[in-house]
Amino acid sequence: MLDLLRARLAQGSRTTAYPDGPAALPERFRGRPVLDASRCADGCAACADACPTAAIRTDPLAIDLGACLFCPICTEACPEGAVAFTSDHRLATRARDDLVDGGEGPRLAAALEERMRRLFGRSLKLRHVAAGDCGGCAAELTALGNVVFDLGRFGVQFVASPRHADGIVVTGPVTPNMLAALRATWEAVPEPRIVIAVGACAISGGPFAPGDASLAGMPPDIPVDLFVPGCPPHPYTLLDGLLRLLGRLPEPAATALPNRGASQ
Ligand code: SF4
Repeated sequence: MLDLLRARLAQGSRTTAYPDGPAALPERFRGRPVLDASRCADGCAACADACPTAAIRTDPLAIDLGACLFCPICTEACPEGAVAFTSDHRLATRARDDLVDGGEGPRLAAALEERMRRLFGRSLKLRHVAAGDCGGCAAELTALGNVVFDLGRFGVQFVASPRHADGIVVTGPVTPNMLAALRATWEAVPEPRIVIAVGACAISGGPFAPGDASLAGMPPDIPVDLFVPGCPPHPYTLLDGLLRLLGRLPEPAATALPNRGASQ
């Protein structure tokens, strides 16, 4: 027992200092992509042709972060290096259109309006709805509760019942069989309520949609308050988006985003 206590004391705190300190991301992490249209050869659409989710358009060059899988296929397909990934994990937005990035970076999520912030800013209960996800996004949501990210220190917790929740977090492309359950869960959350779409699937259908077995993400009649791109989003991306929504982080202009080193 004493050995265990000594080991635990030697380990110290494992909880990330984020947002007061930097996000400790691995070298291989692929975050916000950057585009350099000046490198594109006339008529070349190699990156767009290679993208498995048609997230890239070339006239003008732009990438839809809501469909991007953050895979390296576009960077491998482009011989000129017009597309590269940075290590910037900050991606969440309030509006779907803000995820379409022409090279200036996404317009990061603004905070909830004052009344909602007063209600949820210090205590937010969320119900997760897995609407046909592969398990990747769900695993990263689970990771938010571990000792490293410790989401509970910000007053955010996942609960079992929508009746006890202030909002829902949706993962997956929304399968026809889950549509009624998703809608019923959303309706069971007392108003005012918030909706968070996590991952390319919930935002756009990701690699699955559209198809017979899945929709193209969140149905349009359920308003989404926060879009968190990724496949899956890193817990730092989720944490950053949630804290921005709750007004716990400053709101930088899109153009003020630092380009913290490209990584393929
Ligand atoms: S966005 Fe990616 S990780 Fe998340 S459910 Fe879809 S395929 Fe899985």
